[in-house]
Amino acid sequence: MSTRVLVLGGGLAGLLAARRHARGGARVTLVERREDVGGAVRGVDLGGILVNAGAEAYGTGSGAVDALLSDLGLGEHVVTPRAGLGSRVVSDAGALVSPPGGLLGIPGDPLSREVRAALGTTGALRAWVERLLPASFGFADGVSVAEYVRRRMGARVAERLVSPIIGGVHSADPHTLELASVLPRLEETVRETGSLAAAVRRLRPQPHASAGTAVRALDPTMALLPGALADDLIAHGGTMLGGTRAVGVRRGGTDAADAQPDAPDAAWQVRLEGAHTGTLAADHLVIATDPGTARDLLLGNGAAEADGSDADADLAEVARAIPSSPAVAVRLVLLALDAPQLDAFPSGTGALVAPGTRGIRAKGLTHASAKWEHVERAARERFGPHSHVLRLSYGRPGEVLPGDDALTDEQVTDLALADASAILGTALSREQLRAARTVTWRRTMRQARPGHRAALEDLDRILGSAGLPLELTGAWRAGTGLDALVRHDGRTS
Ligand SMILES: Cc1cc2nc3c(=O)[nH]c(=O)nc-3n(C[C@H](O)[C@H](O)[C@H](O)COP(=O)(O)OP(=O)(O)OC[C@H]3O[C@@H](n4cnc5c(N)ncnc54)[C@H](O)[C@@H]3O)c2cc1C
Repeated sequence: MSTRVLVLGGGLAGLLAARRHARGGARVTLVERREDVGGAVRGVDLGGILVNAGAEAYGTGSGAVDALLSDLGLGEHVVTPRAGLGSRVVSDAGALVSPPGGLLGIPGDPLSREVRAALGTTGALRAWVERLLPASFGFADGVSVAEYVRRRMGARVAERLVSPIIGGVHSADPHTLELASVLPRLEETVRETGSLAAAVRRLRPQPHASAGTAVRALDPTMALLPGALADDLIAHGGTMLGGTRAVGVRRGGTDAADAQPDAPDAAWQVRLEGAHTGTLAADHLVIATDPGTARDLLLGNGAAEADGSDADADLAEVARAIPSSPAVAVRLVLLALDAPQLDAFPSGTGALVAPGTRGIRAKGLTHASAKWEHVERAARERFGPHSHVLRLSYGRPGEVLPGDDALTDEQVTDLALADASAILGTALSREQLRAARTVTWRRTMRQARPGHRAALEDLDRILGSAGLPLELTGAWRAGTGLDALVRHDGRTS
């Protein structure tokens, strides 16, 4: 009989694991709490056009996602951002062109025109002399991105270039984001090349590309990817249980009353609630949820487990080794506008906003119809020739989301219009609005705090010595983003 694999969580990490096992000949069942799979990779309707509700693109650095997409037959849906537009960093100093060729805002060429404009000549020179420092200077166990960049290149690089990007891309504070977690190859590359700037140039896939363009996307939305993974899973005999929440995990045989008659020798028993309520048996378990849920499941803290049973000691040890990596809530406000004044793409593909910028609460804006021609086409077909789609994001660590405070939905839309006006330097009014939609992500974006990498290494060790037929996966373990997840898939148990 083939191995029964149960995958809990149908985000990208769970779908990749499910497909891998199904292709390996296992009998796979994937359990997803929501009706649809994809997790943070899904589409949403904006007044009649389909747009991304979460991830909007993927990094092309490793080529891993491109290879997967072509394997899934999605190659013809791959699109690249409109060339030559660049993006902006907005702060109290105004809107400046993001320096091209950087890595998370760290410049590869500290004396470039764009870096000098952002930092002033003194700040740019301070960044440039970094090349004279010993390669090991600035590294320490658990050092944060901000501290490391400040030590090597100076405070202005950290505050004006890195902070807005870390806030916008990782929803994190660079002062508490561990360098080794977010740029795991940096230390080694700095040692090899002799300086941070040289390491950035080597690690950047396209050194002269405009900031934010080392990405590709799918037309019409990134949701094609989870859809194709799910189809492939089913084509390989897999089963999907949507609208179903895993609430408790036990090792088979630890509670005889729980064992199913047809699966007396199962390694795992998993309790489910929702569309499919009951217990499922499995030989191999993949937990691909957020880390808090993974911990609760292994500790037996799920709702249906409130029966006083003790957690299995091995599982408890694994559970306690899962790093807490706290979530940052993110709210996107998607706007479709009839706005001829945006036809010239005043901020290029969009802008990231430095923390503390007066009069702007958003942390970033993507001018989606400038960045992506397929979005522009869809918007124009639906709303007319001067239509634009903007995507504003809110939620830095520790901030209350607009709408979680006293603001009504209408006021959140007004706030987004005001922020977009300030960022793009042109007044956008309610009369121009054709559709608005908010999407909230409360559990997906995780902060890799200092110590995260060491904690993951401990987890690897504990999982290795426990020898359980168990995989733990997800962005909290692989790193944020589609590229990290695809590269990580199947690497560790
Ligand atoms: C707003 C936003 C924008 C982003 N933009 C980009 C981008 O442009 N490019 C990029 O590469 N990355 C981007 N990311 C990051 C990327 O989307 C994530 O890193 C990735 O999708 C996470 O996948 P995952 O499978 O680890 O987690 P998730 O997508 O969160 O999936 C976890 C799944 O587990 C399910 N689940 C949880 N508990 C249970 C349970 N008890 N039982 C059953 N199921 C359960 C959840 O419903 C969910 O579907 C973005 C993320 C967000 C939120």
